[in-house]
Amino acid sequence: MDKKNLFDLTGRVAVVTGASSGLGVQMAKAFARQGADLVIMARRKEKLEAVAEEIRKLGVKCLPIQCDVTDTEAVNRAAEITEKEFDKIDILVNNAGNGHVGPAIDTTDEDWASVINLDLSSVFKVSRAFAKIMMKNKYGGIIHITSMYGLAGNMALASGGYHAAKGGAINLTRALAAEWAPYGITVNSICPGYFETELTADTLKTEEFSQYMKATVPLGRYGREGELDAAAVFLASDAASYVTGIALPVDGGYTCV
Ligand code: NDP
Repeated sequence: MDKKNLFDLTGRVAVVTGASSGLGVQMAKAFARQGADLVIMARRKEKLEAVAEEIRKLGVKCLPIQCDVTDTEAVNRAAEITEKEFDKIDILVNNAGNGHVGPAIDTTDEDWASVINLDLSSVFKVSRAFAKIMMKNKYGGIIHITSMYGLAGNMALASGGYHAAKGGAINLTRALAAEWAPYGITVNSICPGYFETELTADTLKTEEFSQYMKATVPLGRYGREGELDAAAVFLASDAASYVTGIALPVDGGYTCV
């Protein structure tokens, strides 16, 4: 590879789900800084529009699409809109997610179905819709934002459904990587550790959780804003063209002990 910037994404079209807040916004902006045009998806339209404005200021195109990723029709429509606007899609980041927290014996069927729907089934639905477009060009990189909780348990907060869904998404990564390799599509997963976002801020701020983190995360701190960007840009770029089916922890070492 004879490129000064190994991670150049100029001319690429990247779709990021769950890009109205948190890690999705950070990764979308990281792709934009490398030159990619963006499609950002989430349910909160106003937040999405505001993020799109910020991304456009980085000198690339950005199309916000309001979409609930658990809704198959809405997802398929989003893929159609994207193809119409850009003719192709090169990168897909399945980042939208949330988690049910609660003891297993108190978890209702509805709680269970809800977390599996969002954190596992939607990853499949969005991948299916956008991979069809990638297959036409025989090129694509799909990244699932799973969790270190998909690789291990935890002793702080009971959340079995979330662990199951994220673990399922990690093995879906491997299966789709094998199935779609002949179409030039790579499928990888990033497993974040603790990052402060809308999803986690209330929990992470407590003294109790902070003590737990210090006892379980070798680097002894939460992830900082932007610390997921390099992993996402790497896996989205041609520099990772021979990398597929992996689960890459960015977790301060939580899963190494
Ligand atoms: P945020 O709550 O800040 O972001 C979640 C995003 O997902 C929002 O943009 C939200 O937008 C979107 N979203 C939620 N439900 C849906 C839906 N049904 N359809 C479309 N979009 C949806 O959390 P994070 O940034 O922390 O989380 C991002 C991902 O990272 C998640 O998958 C999470 O599980 C994972 N993760 C996060 C960790 C952390 O410590 N922060 C640790 C490990 C994994 P909207 O509400 O507008 O729809």
